[in-house]
Amino acid sequence: MDKKFKYSIAIHGGAGAIPKTVPEKDKKEYIYALKDILQYGKELLEKRHTALDTVELVVNKFEDCPLFNAGKGAVFNSEGRNELNAAIMDGRDRSCGAVTCVTRIKNPISLARIVMEKSPHILLCGDGAEKFAKQHGMKFVRNSYFFTQKRYDQWLKMKEKDITALDHSSDLTNSAKGTVGCVARDIYGDLAAATSTGGMTNKKYGRIGDTPIIGSGTYADNETCAVSCTGTGEEFMRTVAGHEIHSLIKYKKMNIKEALDHFTVKILKPDTGGLIAVDKYGDHAYSFNSKGMYRGSADSEGFFEVRIWE
Ligand code: ASP
Repeated sequence: MDKKFKYSIAIHGGAGAIPKTVPEKDKKEYIYALKDILQYGKELLEKRHTALDTVELVVNKFEDCPLFNAGKGAVFNSEGRNELNAAIMDGRDRSCGAVTCVTRIKNPISLARIVMEKSPHILLCGDGAEKFAKQHGMKFVRNSYFFTQKRYDQWLKMKEKDITALDHSSDLTNSAKGTVGCVARDIYGDLAAATSTGGMTNKKYGRIGDTPIIGSGTYADNETCAVSCTGTGEEFMRTVAGHEIHSLIKYKKMNIKEALDHFTVKILKPDTGGLIAVDKYGDHAYSFNSKGMYRGSADSEGFFEVRIWE
């Protein structure tokens, strides 16, 4: 296949049972934020930034936006605190970094990148990750920085019922949405993926989902594709989602869209969530088996689209 794209990018802001009856005002707010973030990422790639820099900077923007379940606006765990997870992967050499259960790092994806670049390790957790962050001059915030009333009210409801839920499981009027992710192919032909999340509402203290697990929620390899997932993390871990997409392309010779659809229809449990991906040719795709997924994609050929439902 010819490399027809100079660059491509795809983003997601979470998947779940998003009802079509969402108030117009809320819908507009999400669409506006997604467009703004996608445009930002597209411009970075146009200005010759690497895929790796682009996915980090795009996810930083998501983390700073209270509408999404990452950084500011993250969901609460069963103890009423925010515990954040993030991972980044560079398709050039499969180097990667991840952090989990951090509670005071403003931009967890940037800490994941520092773990990748400045440590011999891949995954650091909790206090250890924060100690490492301090040594590297990362920006710290109080845990209360992540507070949003919507998320807190959502947690109180879940706590009362004693259930754990995807932040997308209730309607937009009482819950903001989604784990965030970005995948990109840059003008040099390199791929990268980044995912960041607060996890699931009312999750057990210390629970870790798919996002920071390389090969599950986040994966990138120049040989095939870059992938970022969102939905019930346990299912993406069970199916090793990111690496599964890589394998379907590599060994089954599927194209990116076939691989994603095969995965969400045949492998993933129904109503679990979705994924976004770009491949080495710059083709971009998404697939989900939940009601909706906040997402967008753009490329050098002028394609630019943001959507919530099919
Ligand atoms: N996958 C995330 C987790 O399980 C949640 C999400 O995507 O909303 O932690």
